[in-house]
Amino acid sequence: MVDGCIFCRILAGDAPASFVHRGQAVSSLIDIRPVTPGHLLVIPNRHVTHVRDLPDAVADELFAVARRLARALLRTGLRAEGTNMLVADGEQAGQEVFHAHLHVFPRFAGDGFRIGSSAYDEAPPSRTELDGVAEQIVAAMAGEREVGS
Ligand SMILES: [Zn+2]
Repeated sequence: MVDGCIFCRILAGDAPASFVHRGQAVSSLIDIRPVTPGHLLVIPNRHVTHVRDLPDAVADELFAVARRLARALLRTGLRAEGTNMLVADGEQAGQEVFHAHLHVFPRFAGDGFRIGSSAYDEAPPSRTELDGVAEQIVAAMAGEREVGS
């Protein structure tokens, strides 16, 4: 429980929410401002700011529950022809609540939701550039042990 965290308050029963799942490590609730009807959040029961820093077992559960919810959404009466999953880790990535969460939302033709980038209008980078970026990431990963291990 972190003071001032709305998700911690919801999990403690101190703020209202429409839950669809309460598990040992993670819970899921309806987003208060749904992109499409059925837009869900999957959150760890213990406060962690970013998905990237979750213990591996909790992250595994987060994704397992999200996949279960995605399958369930397709069986509801809601408009769901596909689903997106989205993690916004960090303010610059669009994170607004600083308690880790994974969005799952139903998608249908003409729903008006867009994920865009001007990069898609430009020529792709060369293989040399792509390899250079890959090298940096491989080097950074080499020094890191798995979270939670
Ligand atoms: Zn919290």
